[in-house]
Amino acid sequence: MRTPLIAGNWKMNLHRAEAVALAEAVVKAIKADSGKYGKAEAALCPPSVYLDAVAQVVKGSSVALGAQNMYHEANGAFTGELSASMLRDVGCKYVVLGHSERRHILGESNQDVNRKVLTALKGGLSPIVCVGETLQQREAGQTADVVWEQFFGSLAGVSAEQMQQVVIAYEPVWAIGTGKTATPQQAEEVHADLRKILEFRYNTATAQAVRIQYGGSVKPDNAAELLSQKNIDGALVGGASLKAEQFLGILAGA
Ligand code: PEP
Repeated sequence: MRTPLIAGNWKMNLHRAEAVALAEAVVKAIKADSGKYGKAEAALCPPSVYLDAVAQVVKGSSVALGAQNMYHEANGAFTGELSASMLRDVGCKYVVLGHSERRHILGESNQDVNRKVLTALKGGLSPIVCVGETLQQREAGQTADVVWEQFFGSLAGVSAEQMQQVVIAYEPVWAIGTGKTATPQQAEEVHADLRKILEFRYNTATAQAVRIQYGGSVKPDNAAELLSQKNIDGALVGGASLKAEQFLGILAGA
């Protein structure tokens, strides 16, 4: 039985007081009504400068902390970068890797993502590894090929045992921040493919254990139907995670 993971990716939004207030509202609501919000695991991924502040808020609660990125080296002269051990030190359990904004705006390749994934796993973090096609690729019928290539490129060298710590996020690029959501059927088709790829690359037990989140304009009003699909094990949420009631609405939908 896979516990769904609802992770809020706050991206480059909010300032300290807002970040703390948002985390406090989420933690308070979950503590007050675990029957409504406690069926899924919740994680918050604030901007890195606020990780410590949000860590203080989620400490002792069921809410996990995640980072939005990290570097693949352990330490050294890498100005502006953060290591896996720093993220662990500040209380992170998760790190989002290979988000389409990093792939498309910042030029990260599958090889870059792969280096980070291996380093995150070695450092005791659970990577949330994002894959997903652009609209052009979907319209050209290339979705399955793109997802296959990103899966094998980003997860090269990850053992079956390590794979248990990995979360995959299927995020069609055309659905991120656009208000266009994949239909539950479109999403489920890709999730089922990813489950088959996991079985092909690893084994049935691993394929059944790994959580595959959906991401792309998930909102309280579409969450329940998406999350009821057999192979959708949670959501990676951008815009709607910036408002406590919306994030909680999605959590309730799980
Ligand atoms: C995301 O950035 O991962 C995302 C899914 O964003 P949004 O929910 O805003 O589409």
